[in-house]
Amino acid sequence: MLVDSHCHLDLVDPTLTQTDALLEDAALVGVGHFLSVCVSLENAPVVRGIAARYPQVSASVGVHPNHLEGDEPTVAQLAELASDPLIVALGETGLDYHYGPDYVALQQERLRTHIRAAREVGKPLIVHMRDATEDMLRILTEERAHEVAGVMHCFTGDWMTAQRALELGFYISFSGIVTFKSADAIREAACLVPAERLLVETDAPYLAPVPYRGKQNQPAYVRQVADYVADLRDMEQDELDALVGRNFFELFPVIQRTS
Ligand SMILES: [Zn+2]
Ligand SMILES: [Zn+2]
Repeated sequence: MLVDSHCHLDLVDPTLTQTDALLEDAALVGVGHFLSVCVSLENAPVVRGIAARYPQVSASVGVHPNHLEGDEPTVAQLAELASDPLIVALGETGLDYHYGPDYVALQQERLRTHIRAAREVGKPLIVHMRDATEDMLRILTEERAHEVAGVMHCFTGDWMTAQRALELGFYISFSGIVTFKSADAIREAACLVPAERLLVETDAPYLAPVPYRGKQNQPAYVRQVADYVADLRDMEQDELDALVGRNFFELFPVIQRTS
C-alpha cells in the first residue's frame, strides 16, 4: 500500500469540504494511508479532528520552526497532546535557516522541546531540516533523539547527510523535490538509502512534483513521487508501494492498518 508519509490536509483545504474528494482521488491511485502533520498549536485540534473522522488518516502534533505566531509549546503540553492515541508522532519540528539567522535560538530550543516530549511519550519525530545540517545532527544527538527516531521529512540533503541521519535511526522521506531538474544530490541519496528506511511524501499543499510543479500539491501526487523513486531504484511500482507501506507501519506501530 502506498502511503503519503507527510501532508497537511488542513492546509490543502482549510474548509475541509474537499477532504473526502482529496482522499478518494489518492485512493484511486493506490494511496491507502496519510500522515497529516500539524504545524501549530492553534491547528492541532483541526488536524486531530481529521484523523478522528478518517481511519486512513493519522495525525501528529507540533509547531513548525517557521511558525512564529502563537504560544510557544512546553514539553508537558506537547507530551499531553501527544499521549492521545490518534496522535502518532511529534512534529513537524526542526530547523530552517533558509530565511536567515533570526530565530535560530528559538528554533533550537523549540526543537529540543519536541524531542523531550517525544521521548516522554515514546513516539517518533517528524523532522524538517533546511540549511541547518550540522546544528540539527548535533541537537538530535545531544537530546538522544535516537531513542524515538522518526522521519527526516522532505529530505533535501546529500547521501553523506542521509547516512548520518540513518545512523541516528531515522527514516528518510523524499518529496516532489526529487523530481526537480536541479536535484541530482537528492536523487543520489534516494538511490542509496537502504530499502528498509525509505519513505515518500507530498508535503501537500507545497512542492508539487513534476508534472504538476507550480500547482497546489495534493496527496494523490505522492504517486508521481513514488513512481519516480521506483524508477531511480530500478523497482516495480508494486514493489515500491509495498516497501514504503511496510516501512511506514513499522515506524508507527500504533497505527491500525485499514487495508
Ligand atoms: Zn517541512
Ligand atoms: Zn510539512
